[in-house]
Amino acid sequence: MEYEIIVGLEVHVELSTKSKIYCSCTTDFGGEPNTHICPVCTGMPGVLPVLNKKVVEYAVKTGLATNCSIAKYSKQDRKNYFYPDLPKAYQISQYDLPLCRDGYIDIEVEGRTKRIGITRIHIEEDAGKLVHDQNETGTLIDYNRCGVPLIEIVTEPDMRSAQEARAFVESLRNILRYIDVSDCKMQEGSLRVDVNLSVRPKGQKEFGTRTEMKNLNSIRSMVRAIESEAKRQIEVIESGGIIVQETRRWDEHKGVSCSMRTKEEAHDYRYFPEPDLMPIVVDEEWKEEIKRSLPELPDARRKRYVNEYGLPGHDAFILTSSKALADFFEEAAGKCNNAKAVSNFILGDVSRILNDKGMEAEDIPFPAEYLAKLVKLVDQGTISTTIAKKVLEIMFEQKKDPQEIVREEGLEVVSDEKALAEVVKKVISNNTKLVEDYKKGKDKVFGFLVGQAMKETKGKANPRLLNKILKEELDKI
Ligand code: ADP
Ligand code: MG
Ligand code: ZN
Repeated sequence: MEYEIIVGLEVHVELSTKSKIYCSCTTDFGGEPNTHICPVCTGMPGVLPVLNKKVVEYAVKTGLATNCSIAKYSKQDRKNYFYPDLPKAYQISQYDLPLCRDGYIDIEVEGRTKRIGITRIHIEEDAGKLVHDQNETGTLIDYNRCGVPLIEIVTEPDMRSAQEARAFVESLRNILRYIDVSDCKMQEGSLRVDVNLSVRPKGQKEFGTRTEMKNLNSIRSMVRAIESEAKRQIEVIESGGIIVQETRRWDEHKGVSCSMRTKEEAHDYRYFPEPDLMPIVVDEEWKEEIKRSLPELPDARRKRYVNEYGLPGHDAFILTSSKALADFFEEAAGKCNNAKAVSNFILGDVSRILNDKGMEAEDIPFPAEYLAKLVKLVDQGTISTTIAKKVLEIMFEQKKDPQEIVREEGLEVVSDEKALAEVVKKVISNNTKLVEDYKKGKDKVFGFLVGQAMKETKGKANPRLLNKILKEELDKI
């Protein structure tokens, strides 16, 4: 039997506001344990929360950027549970009236576009951090993260593979970075994904029972977790068992998930309206103001690259998949009038070098203007494309202006006919057998001879001229 995987995600994102959601403590990551705290975020008796307006603004921004409708009126609720990372014994969250709902993000997988529904986005506060391995007598608690603002983004069960889930998280992260509401560093916990997964026989209409997996701290471990959990569920069903609705913990080390607890239901949390906070009202005027503050989003930018620069859709997709990369592209393209060449450099050699060095687009060590200059040097015929690759490597190492590199290293194209004729003659006399073959009609040899001559000039020969001279010399024989 063939099975289909059904995935819905719950994504928690720490917002990059300066202060926490209900007090003025800093949200800075790290810091000595329990130094970013106050009576409010540690739940002392008698304190009152005051909602940080920026949190609402950032959540609405996210909602607008993901095509959600924004609630004119929403409220906050207490979600009650007892655990040492939560000093108040309740988390202020939103239950039945979230700030945003019914949105979507379009993802691209294997060249196809697919729409993933967003059920809701609500605001809530983060909990503290338990430290289990630094004290022999017990567990330590760091409340610095307590009260850091979060948004939770819940998707529809619309994804059908690990690849679609990956594409969704990547697109979402890209959007969140474009609108600058979070740094989305998964390794620091500012973007956390829970995976809800079920399987069903292909063709069946009803969904199967789902499990929820927590503790996925990279996209890579999310993909592994989805593949492993789908396999596990199929094996259980195939061997006549049933799937239990439960929360599972992914163990990155062992590459397996294990059961944590049976799934809690909403009524277990005894949700009730937070009595210490006013309802949240987002009027038309404020919503419009936030809308106007949105930058051009990846989707719009991608379409513009196709129309304005004539780039292939896929190239535009990759360029806009990181704001830093897109900004770099646009600046360079604007300075050299050859967007296609700039794009090719970025998608080819620049990406390869970044990848090799484990760097992000943000880390490109030279200004976009230098890439524009490099493209110009090729376009003007000052250097060949082969040499340009070499110059680019040096730009990454020395952060120098390409013109300077070309001058210092003597990399200009050799267009001196006499010098090239010398080289060609040498290559011909070194390859008499091949030249004979060529004369007998084996045309392929020509390319090889060009390659040899190019090598002699260390890649610096003007290709068109070299071809012409070689042809002439061979014709003479
Ligand atoms: P809860 O409130 O119990 O967490 P929700 O209905 O809010 O449950 O769903 C949580 C997540 O589970 C959503 O992302 C949703 O898309 C996903 N989900 C719901 N049903 C299924 C299913 N049968 N298979 C996979 N994912 C599912
Ligand atoms: Mg849930
Ligand atoms: Zn505080």
